[in-house]
Amino acid sequence: RQAVGNSTKTLKEMIQSGVDNLCDDYYDRGILINCTIVNVYPSDDPFSFEVYYRINSTFINDSTRNIQSENKISVSLVDGKYPVYDVYPSFMGNVNVVNDSYRYHDADAVYDNATSGLIIKKCPYEQYTKHAHSNITMTDCLNNHYYHFSHDGLCVFCRLENRSTCAHNGLETFIIPSVRVNESTSSVDHVYFNTSLGGHYNGSLRDFNDSFIYLDDAHGGKYGFN
Ligand SMILES: [Zn+2]
Ligand SMILES: [Zn+2]
Repeated sequence: RQAVGNSTKTLKEMIQSGVDNLCDDYYDRGILINCTIVNVYPSDDPFSFEVYYRINSTFINDSTRNIQSENKISVSLVDGKYPVYDVYPSFMGNVNVVNDSYRYHDADAVYDNATSGLIIKKCPYEQYTKHAHSNITMTDCLNNHYYHFSHDGLCVFCRLENRSTCAHNGLETFIIPSVRVNESTSSVDHVYFNTSLGGHYNGSLRDFNDSFIYLDDAHGGKYGFN
């Protein structure tokens, strides 16, 4: 896979061609629909994005009757209809795909054979501090490779462009390490992938018996750990 130069343009073109196919279906019923995708852009909710479109429709036999409208819709990335793949690890890491996850090859033994998700799934534990309440909650989040809202994480547009930073509301998921030590790189994807001096930092071991990760104090607090 290759990074996309301009994710807005690519998504716009992909949606436009999908919509053109849909509009063609109405032609046989005597309806002409022209739908122009005006713009797409990241939403405040990083689990969706916004689409601006303009519709012109008329009847083939009666062009005096026509409807024009301009609208904006929010399109969910996680409604389960179409899986949205997170391509970012394939740009940033040395990974291969095993079933529904990425498997990492890392010179650091702690992260060699680490895993993270392939498909963006929204964590159902929306009160993030509750992650720390039970090992079952945390293990469920890790086993399913759920994604969380994050100011520092990357949005899907920036993930597609293989950016190192993102000005939008973004996402974060855990990269689950394979070896237990007291302290290692924090297991949050945007920390693990960050190569800048201030962006790559360690966390302490958080052990849930069946699984474990490393979390720095800030992310530890976010998920309810002291
Ligand atoms: Zn979670
Ligand atoms: Zn972004």
